[in-house]
Amino acid sequence: MKIKIIKTVDEIHSTVKAIKLSGKSIGLVPTMGFLHRGHISLVKESKIKNDITIVSVFVNPTQFGPTEDLNKYPRDIDKDTALLEAEGVDYLFLPDEKEIYPDDYETYVEVTKTSKKQEGEFRPSHFKGVTTIVSILFNCVCPDNAYFGRKDAQQAVIIKKMVKDLKMDINVVIMPIIREDDGLALSSRNIYLNKEERERSLLLSKSLNEAKIMIESGEHLVNNVIKKISNMFLKESTIHLNYIRIVEASSFNEIEQLEKGKEYYILIAARIGTTRLIDNLLVTV
Ligand code: AMP
Repeated sequence: MKIKIIKTVDEIHSTVKAIKLSGKSIGLVPTMGFLHRGHISLVKESKIKNDITIVSVFVNPTQFGPTEDLNKYPRDIDKDTALLEAEGVDYLFLPDEKEIYPDDYETYVEVTKTSKKQEGEFRPSHFKGVTTIVSILFNCVCPDNAYFGRKDAQQAVIIKKMVKDLKMDINVVIMPIIREDDGLALSSRNIYLNKEERERSLLLSKSLNEAKIMIESGEHLVNNVIKKISNMFLKESTIHLNYIRIVEASSFNEIEQLEKGKEYYILIAARIGTTRLIDNLLVTV
């Protein structure tokens, strides 16, 4: 069946109302477009678990900082539409900026503490923009299930917290990171990397794997792991490391020593040329 494209809030509301009346379940996959296999993995899961799948494509200006890449963020809506249609997606919600944020817009949603940690230190208003747009999309689509990737692990934790705190009746599903064969986590921003930068970018996933091996071999002192991994970047002067951190998976709090039986994220953020990449690995000690 041909995918239906919906551009207005009024139309998505009336469409969703009709779906709900027919007793069908709705899965939502929020994206900023320029879709890759990572996005499609979320779409496939939604298709399996829901009667109707709605994918949104919206490059959300409120989650970009003033010096970030909003204007050059890659877009290819024709290709995205074809990919989603091939997956059998029912609806593409494709609002324009003014439809979401009219000139008199003034309401924001913020998970105040978790949004300030880790990525939040480097991108101060980023998560406030994310929770605001995700709230708006949840109100537009009223999904039973909403699908997010672990690639943005802190985002996933923050959205789960928002849903819990605001008592939203939505099941948030977090899906594994999809990677290239050589380890690079798929991201729409990978298109910015030239050939040389693309090769260098492998240090992110390599260093995460190195950290995981150290932890699994019994190193539980966080500082020792971080020191060893940071050294791997000293030789790579063209990669500017923002941070390597190990945090509790549920809270994103930093810790000094890993405890048996608990889950942690090893987080990494680095700039290669003008491209900022993030990656992570989940480890159980
Ligand atoms: P974005 O379009 O970058 O905002 O991403 C939309 C959704 O796709 C988010 O929930 C991301 O975490 C998820 N996503 C992005 N890259 C990947 C990946 N490599 N593997 C799995 N999910 C991903």
